[in-house]
Amino acid sequence: MKKIYLLFVLLVSIQLIQAQHVVPCYTTEVVNHYESIHPGYKDKISQAFAQSKNLLDQMHGSRGVNDDTLYKIPVVVHIVYTTPTENLPDSLVYSQIDVLNWDYNRWNEDAVQTREIFKPIAGSMHIEFYLADTDPNGNPTTGIVRKAGTPASTFLGFNAFQDNVKLAAEGDAAWNTNKYLNIWVCNLNTLPLGVLGYAFPPTGASNWPAGSETDSASQGVVIDYTAFGRNNPYIIDPGVIAGRTCVHETGHYLGLRHIWADEAACAEDDGIDDTPKAGDKTNFDCDTTKNTCVDVGIDYPDMIENYMDYSDERCQNMFTRGQTDMMLMNLITLRPQLAHKVVIGVGVNDIHAERSISIYPNPSSDFIQIQFKSLLSIGTPISIFNSTGVKVREERIQDESFKKQIDVRSFEPGIYYIQIANATENYRLKFSVY
Ligand SMILES: [Zn+2]
Repeated sequence: MKKIYLLFVLLVSIQLIQAQHVVPCYTTEVVNHYESIHPGYKDKISQAFAQSKNLLDQMHGSRGVNDDTLYKIPVVVHIVYTTPTENLPDSLVYSQIDVLNWDYNRWNEDAVQTREIFKPIAGSMHIEFYLADTDPNGNPTTGIVRKAGTPASTFLGFNAFQDNVKLAAEGDAAWNTNKYLNIWVCNLNTLPLGVLGYAFPPTGASNWPAGSETDSASQGVVIDYTAFGRNNPYIIDPGVIAGRTCVHETGHYLGLRHIWADEAACAEDDGIDDTPKAGDKTNFDCDTTKNTCVDVGIDYPDMIENYMDYSDERCQNMFTRGQTDMMLMNLITLRPQLAHKVVIGVGVNDIHAERSISIYPNPSSDFIQIQFKSLLSIGTPISIFNSTGVKVREERIQDESFKKQIDVRSFEPGIYYIQIANATENYRLKFSVY
């Protein structure tokens, strides 16, 4: 009878927990836990952030990005499962990589839903996440590693504080974290600490001695299997359907803080100049009337569209320019071996191009339409380059039209650049084929 009663209590407890939202992100808690074991760790994170911020400020507000450069980041996804369900299919991995590319480059279809007041400060990065094609030993790989995990407590799954999914004995060890973005996918939905993800921000600012940062084997992103990929069939909350937990955690991995700076107060700031102040997180909703703090100058509402908030993923659709500039600076200075740089084409101002020319649908699998806002001369060449800078197509404007259709059915999936240039105009835009 006692056993039945305990079972009843357990079932009720599980239902109560399921009725609540899980915690979307445990990065702050994990960082605080690490600080308690290694005092000074948080200072190192702050110093690294301050160093990047200084470098950006020295650029007098210009972008810390060379628009000619694409940063390609190899990704390894470690799927560590304790049940067949947790052994997610490759299709979810591919969709997650797509979501990262779309959201970080602002190719997401719902970018149009960003409120008008925020559109001018929406940021995009010249970045491409791709599944690694070579492993640390130089052998070919799919970039997906599958391993049956044996967490110390199978019932409890993997534990964010113990970070045990990265231990070879219980989960799967990292690939060289200086050279790969490691993403672990496992059951983090442990009771009573159901969390969807966590990540370690970069440390290693040049003015700090090596040695007190987190073990390099910990660097990377951990995502609960229910929150990984787009349209994951095992979601716990309908607001976690768009694969943006991984977008959020990768933001931490590249040095961003939560947009409300983890304090229920307006004084605490996330260190990014163009994110409006927010006094608290958004609770899984899409409340466009939310305005917790008064901003200096224009009083913006809270930016519930931001990936670094806790809003419903269906109304998240942007980073700010301040955030993308900071992430890129962190990538260049604090994770310097991670990205391969590819220089593409002649530099032009992409922002200008975005206002004059648009491409849709983007991404596409069959045809793209290039829409011009002014007529271009007949004969103007349209060149398409792949992400390694090789020209794969050249066409010309053939008639006086505001539209040009291009067949991309023969293109390999990936990122492409279109250059449209004549004697007086020179535009470059990017699109992707899936
Ligand atoms: Zn977070």
